[in-house]
Amino acid sequence: MRARAECEDSELTPLPKAVAARVLDPYFQRLVSRFVESGLTRASKTRLQVDVRMHDTPRHFAACRDDGLLVLVAPQLCDQPVPTVEGILAHELGHAADFLYPAEWVLRGRRVVRRRREDFEEEEWERFARAWQKRDADAVELTADGIAEWVLGTPLGYCGPCRLQTLGAPECGRRPVGLR
Ligand SMILES: [Zn+2]
Repeated sequence: MRARAECEDSELTPLPKAVAARVLDPYFQRLVSRFVESGLTRASKTRLQVDVRMHDTPRHFAACRDDGLLVLVAPQLCDQPVPTVEGILAHELGHAADFLYPAEWVLRGRRVVRRRREDFEEEEWERFARAWQKRDADAVELTADGIAEWVLGTPLGYCGPCRLQTLGAPECGRRPVGLR
């Protein structure tokens, strides 16, 4: 027996793409509704697409295109428990909202605050936009989690040996810095 569980892949055969899409889309749409209800109406245009290439490491199941309009998920996500499915999708929608509302999200510790374009002069906003473009990977990831928490009212936990995003499990702890 191992002293500590390692992050390993399941041996299950992934579901066919079309089946996985039917399984995952209702979870995705429920979360999109929450984002839209929070005032992030641009998220209503964000779509989900199943792509086997997303599962390139045992802890990697999803990604968001940098225009915020497409979330890609691996069919293997269907083998995860529902709170993990929701946590991973919520994190990706956090990235989507970050891209859909460029430079509006400011990280404050582990939380975000939102600033609005109309409250600032053009020059100042351009400075914000340049700083937003130059954020490091950890800041981008923490912002995605911060936006998900801003919308859903509960922080994402990072659970299990793979440290997977999990909704409704803050006891697992926040995202470790440097996690990829
Ligand atoms: Zn991410």
